[in-house]
Amino acid sequence: MSILGLVQRPGRIVGGEIRFKDQDLVKLSYDELREIRGRDIAMIFQDPLSSLNPVLRVGFQIDEAMLAHDKVPKEQVSPRGVDLFKLVRVPDAARRLRDYPHQFSGGMRQRAMIAMGLSNRPEILIADEPTTALDVTVQAQILELLRDLNEQTHTAIILITHNLGVVAGKRVIVMYAGEIVEEGPVEQIFEAPQHPYTWSLLRSLPRINADRRERLRSIEGLPPDLIKLPSGCKFHPRCPFRVDKCFTDDPKLQYVGGAHQAACWVMMDQAYKTYGTHDFTDTRPGAMSGVHPPGYTPQVTPEGRLLETPAEAAELVSEATPAAEPVTDD
Ligand code: SF4
Repeated sequence: MSILGLVQRPGRIVGGEIRFKDQDLVKLSYDELREIRGRDIAMIFQDPLSSLNPVLRVGFQIDEAMLAHDKVPKEQVSPRGVDLFKLVRVPDAARRLRDYPHQFSGGMRQRAMIAMGLSNRPEILIADEPTTALDVTVQAQILELLRDLNEQTHTAIILITHNLGVVAGKRVIVMYAGEIVEEGPVEQIFEAPQHPYTWSLLRSLPRINADRRERLRSIEGLPPDLIKLPSGCKFHPRCPFRVDKCFTDDPKLQYVGGAHQAACWVMMDQAYKTYGTHDFTDTRPGAMSGVHPPGYTPQVTPEGRLLETPAEAAELVSEATPAAEPVTDD
């Protein structure tokens, strides 16, 4: 959203630069950015049904995207629409362009959005969660399509996703609370994640060979409130490996091998060495390091059992709170 100047008020960009072709997009006027948006940098949003106009034919909407920028000569607009539909593998392309969005399946609508995104031959295509709400088979088709398009059209693709299972490509940037916490080649990040947040995300992926009775793993706690961010490292309220410094000092990105960078005071390689294992079962905040904020009291059940998760603690509190008496008329 920031790259394309689509951050809604009261949101605003408070610092930094967005460099594209020797210019800083942050400094461009609304009209200058409008020229770039859709022409040089295009975006595919996560819900194609709400991005497409339901009362206009899909072909009309793709043609409109081309006519808005004059990059494609007028006489080539309609034939290019058909070519684009063929490129994104929509069968019977010329006929389907006359259909309305509701006549398309979820996967086909996403293909139409990709065709629209590519219509002006952009240099960058930003795909924001392009596989959300699609079943895994269609997810795989869309990802394969994006990879093929990247090779055929040489358009750079930025894929935004929460699902590390769909990450493919060359370079991964992991963000937490709006900041880059880890960055590097995809193989390195997947094989040896260094930031505890990346490690936790990868650990949360369901495994096909897991014991069926094993519970799915998740990251303890909640993402921070972006209006009131925690001090120090933003991940410290959820991190099992936190140390005292994490509460006060924000770590900066540092190289950890080749082009791989991470921002952490501990790093996973150090955590493996310190605790002598690669398999951490207790991932509650501060569980491994034993470092907690001042005034922290461990949550223990009346039987003396240490609670496993914050959710379990909340459940215990609600069980202990008597239900309100029903209100009667008399
Ligand atoms: S160890 Fe500290 S710096 Fe590293 S992720 Fe955890 S809280 Fe942040």
